[in-house]
Amino acid sequence: MAGEGYVLLLGAQSTVELLGLPGDPGEPLELYRAALRRGGGRLLERLRRGLESGAVRSIVYLGADGALSRLLSRGVVEVYGAVSRLRCPRCGRRWWIDEGERCPRCGGPGEPDYSETPRRRQLEEAIYELTTAEAVAVHGLGEPPPVLGSVLALAASRFTRVRLLEPAPAQLRGLGLEETGETLEELLAGLAP
Ligand SMILES: [Zn+2]
Repeated sequence: MAGEGYVLLLGAQSTVELLGLPGDPGEPLELYRAALRRGGGRLLERLRRGLESGAVRSIVYLGADGALSRLLSRGVVEVYGAVSRLRCPRCGRRWWIDEGERCPRCGGPGEPDYSETPRRRQLEEAIYELTTAEAVAVHGLGEPPPVLGSVLALAASRFTRVRLLEPAPAQLRGLGLEETGETLEELLAGLAP
């Protein structure tokens, strides 16, 4: 049964748009650093307000940069983790790469809090969020979208409305998903006026 609020299924291109950065996402760590230098922006603030009001319930993020979870500090499920976040194998503490290379708690060496394959707990959380949302909006997965992104969008569409934002990936058109013609900016303007 569908719950309250939108769940956004986003990729690295969404971060570029939300922060008004120029060009392509590029390397995840560079995107993270560029996003941090930029710090915010009108669209990111709208998204933050949407999360606060509950109009946006959560974000399922397929990028590896970590920028949105750093800047929004809540509501982001990172299926692969983030290359910009370090984790201490000794004590489990997590911190951001710009805060130093050693664990702030025990001094141990950090390793990236990221994996090439989806993490089980985060993937389960992503599936739960996407299949119980009031509606899912898909954006920024790239062209062609990653297989996991397509699978998650199609799986969610068995349970709730799945809306493709512009530019919609060619591979996802014609599969019965809602082709809205709406941009991420237009969606957020409606959800967090
Ligand atoms: Zn530690």
